[in-house]
Amino acid sequence: MKCDTCGSELSGMMPTCPFCGTPDPVYMRRFRQYPPAQGNYPQPGGNYPPPPQRNYPPPNMYPPPYRSGWKPYNAENEPPEVGLVILAALVPLVGFIYGATSLGSGEKRAGKAYLLAAGISVGAWVLLTLFFVLVGFLAAANR
Ligand SMILES: [Zn+2]
Repeated sequence: MKCDTCGSELSGMMPTCPFCGTPDPVYMRRFRQYPPAQGNYPQPGGNYPPPPQRNYPPPNMYPPPYRSGWKPYNAENEPPEVGLVILAALVPLVGFIYGATSLGSGEKRAGKAYLLAAGISVGAWVLLTLFFVLVGFLAAANR
């Protein structure tokens, strides 16, 4: 870059021509225009807050319907499946397995229901067995 006024070679590292004092346009472009460019940084930076502000409303809008819908799906309040409860009553071993699995995954309510169904089933089978055994003894005693 040559000085417009005196024609001497300009390094671009000095703000003005060392010979005539004419401002060096190269230097001006390199350094004088950087401050305004740096002044523009607050604007990009200033643009960062709005996106978060724009992103916050959606999360705030979604959670209410989702949370109200999520609470019933809370693992601890997960209602037991009727089919599994019946299955647990019919096949106590399956009930115990499902109950233990549900409890292991945090579904306390469902797990307890399966275990309860299995337990009642086992209790009923024990009572039935004792009953028939008792009947058998009585029948044998009466003979
Ligand atoms: Zn000059």
